[in-house]
Amino acid sequence: MALIVQKYGGSSVANPGRIQNVARRVAGYRAKGDQVVVVVSAMSGVTDNLIGLAKEITPLPSEREMDMLLATGEQQTIALTAIALHELGVAATSLTGAQAGIVTDGVHTKARIQNITPKKVHALLDAGNVVIVAGFQGETPEGHITTLGRGGSDLTAIALAAALKADLCQIYTDVDGVYTTDPRIVPGARKLSEVSYDEMLELAGAGAKVMQGRSVEFAKKFGVVFEVRSSMNDNPGTIVKEETRSMEDVVIRGVALDKNQAKVTLVAVPDRPGVAARVFKALGEAAVNVDMIVQNISHGVPATDLSFTLDKADLAKARRLIDTLKADVGFREALVSEQIGKLSIVGVGMRSHSGVAAKMFETLAREGINIEMISTSEIKISVVIDLARGEAAVQAVHRAFLG
Ligand code: ADP
Ligand code: ASP
Ligand code: MG
Repeated sequence: MALIVQKYGGSSVANPGRIQNVARRVAGYRAKGDQVVVVVSAMSGVTDNLIGLAKEITPLPSEREMDMLLATGEQQTIALTAIALHELGVAATSLTGAQAGIVTDGVHTKARIQNITPKKVHALLDAGNVVIVAGFQGETPEGHITTLGRGGSDLTAIALAAALKADLCQIYTDVDGVYTTDPRIVPGARKLSEVSYDEMLELAGAGAKVMQGRSVEFAKKFGVVFEVRSSMNDNPGTIVKEETRSMEDVVIRGVALDKNQAKVTLVAVPDRPGVAARVFKALGEAAVNVDMIVQNISHGVPATDLSFTLDKADLAKARRLIDTLKADVGFREALVSEQIGKLSIVGVGMRSHSGVAAKMFETLAREGINIEMISTSEIKISVVIDLARGEAAVQAVHRAFLG
């Protein structure tokens, strides 16, 4: 008898028929005698709709209240999934994140899991139930409902798998696994049979939304091996695990495009110690995640331009902060562009191969695509380009490196 944690994403539970499909799959495992914990997302579109409703009232709603609102999406799905299992004669009980013992910090809309005490989950499993847990949510020690960032049901599943010492963790989605790039952009993309935590982490950070980045970070930290696979068929998926020697033979594992970033340029920032610290400290304290940062060299004038990228979702909050910083820091103006895309290539083999960046830049040059910013890590190269050319760039770079 194995203990299995299965996570079903929004498209896998998009309507009652899909929820019944999930219930049949779960019932199949149950019939083999396995214990099953099911983590579900909100039905696809529900979270976005709820955000849209709040934004009709104000562009900057209270983050605590957003968590209260968004947590209702997953709460619908857990009950519907339990009802579908009952119809198949399978004992099942749904739990909110809080009821499942998921305790987080108080950073609303991006809370981090502090600890999990899954007492209720164990008791319900021992009594013969399938336990269905609402993804994406937890509660603070003071009892406030929190959410774990977009795509956070992945994190719920992986954290529960770690806390329950599950034998298997399966992430069910609407694609057969992790591909060399988003198969919606490049139909010829190949499914990877395995990928290392570090590569998956970089791909997720680069916008491959198939897994939430923080969930991969958690899996790496606690050694949770997991499989990404489809809820629509029985094809083997992609195993995500610690790096093995043979993974280094592949220079580029994947290509990703992030369309959800915006670029801010602070023009004519005074060139003196402490200025960058003030800007990024203020953003950090407001839980705005800054990704790429570029500062131009000043030519004689004691002023520089400072550009950075951040999630579009944080832009309204960041704009307000930047306005308050303007007088204090003394830059001339802030230019904002939402029409950017971040294109990245990722692979652990990059550590031992040279010429990768040159090949990427040449490929973009041949397409006439201008590079606005560049950043690299040991196993990733990212560039900021015009959003309108994003998909063409992915196709060209995928062709150049992955055939
Ligand atoms: P879920 O609702 O199941 O959490 P998501 O929509 O969050 O699913 O993630 C699945 C989607 O991720 C796929 O439909 C696909 O378009 C996209 N995607 C982006 N990059 C990749 C990739 N490298 N491999 C597979 N899917 C990818
Ligand atoms: N429903 C949440 C979202 O849309 C969490 C998730 O789907 O993982 O981001
Ligand atoms: Mg997702």
